[in-house]
Amino acid sequence: MTRADNDHPLVDPFGRPIEYLRVSVTDRCDFRCVYCMAENMTFLPKAELLTLEELEIVCRRFMAVGTRKIRLTGGEPLVRRNIMQLISALGDEVGRGHLDEVTITTNGSQLSKMADDLYRAGVRRVNVSIDTLDADKFKHITRWGDLAKVLEGIDAALAAGIAIKLNAVALKGFNDDELGDMVDWCGKMGVDMTIIEVMPMGDIGSENRVDQYLPVSLVRANLAKRFTLTDLDYKSGGPARYTQVEETGRKLGFITPLSHNFCESCNRVRLTCTGMLYMCLGQDDNADLSAALRQHGVEGLDAAIVEAIGRKPKGHDFIIDRRNTAPAVARHMSVTGG
Ligand code: SAM
Ligand code: SF4
Repeated sequence: MTRADNDHPLVDPFGRPIEYLRVSVTDRCDFRCVYCMAENMTFLPKAELLTLEELEIVCRRFMAVGTRKIRLTGGEPLVRRNIMQLISALGDEVGRGHLDEVTITTNGSQLSKMADDLYRAGVRRVNVSIDTLDADKFKHITRWGDLAKVLEGIDAALAAGIAIKLNAVALKGFNDDELGDMVDWCGKMGVDMTIIEVMPMGDIGSENRVDQYLPVSLVRANLAKRFTLTDLDYKSGGPARYTQVEETGRKLGFITPLSHNFCESCNRVRLTCTGMLYMCLGQDDNADLSAALRQHGVEGLDAAIVEAIGRKPKGHDFIIDRRNTAPAVARHMSVTGG
């Protein structure tokens, strides 16, 4: 097996360099968003999770072969005990120029108390997921989340010097009439926004995804009646297509995972909290990096990474089927991270 190294960064079979690692650091969460989790989720036993030390080793081995950006997600990453230990270690690598950025996707519930520490650790951008600015609707969609606490967290992060991007999942009959006001609100707050199409991942209990599905193309067409949306070339390293909202001066991104329009430029892979590496969000093929590391040490881990990237598929195959509402991918988003 050839060994990739700093001089020979990892490139997949389709010539895409793998520069972006998303790491789900826990499957646990203090919310139960209806499109993401069932109310009575069974979480993984702690022994199955990579330890924080193991997570750091895997991140460092990816950095050694060209990863420039690491995003921590979950589950809710900020509820993992001692997570600041990992964030600080990665932030130090940003300081040394070994990484461009360490970012976090969070529900914002812990931000008010952690914002200053995150800034000190080197975090400069955080994505906060909010699907509605109505406190009652927020409680309903998250099953018990407190919107006021999340908004407090956004204020604290902005005050600390951390840029925020709002992530909102577009949900038919839930927030379609509100997304324009959220775009306005983001303008006033000085934050960018991304609107995400709901994806068929994991059994979520009674909610029916066909009922939730709202094509982002339709959302965009509706918003274009109220705002002037100018296409931008800007790439965040993610799959969003960005526009500039001329009325607010902020960016607005649209993520349409059900189409294939971003696969060709996909530079990312995803690590689950149990150490499974998914080379594509929409496919089940994976590599057990936990077993490689635990059984064969860092050498085994390096070989497993190279071998896995060699299997990265060209694209995915998501379908929300109107006759069959079973998820296209059986694992939950909270396991792979959004
Ligand atoms: N707990 C954190 C949060 O909510 O931001 C991080 C993990 S969450 C799984 C990451 C993102 O995935 C969130 O923006 C969430 O709204 C989104 N998400 C979860 N389930 C989804 C689904 N089935 N389709 C589309 N987006 C989903
Ligand atoms: Fe938790 Fe995020 Fe999933 Fe909501 S979307 S249940 S906050 S992991």
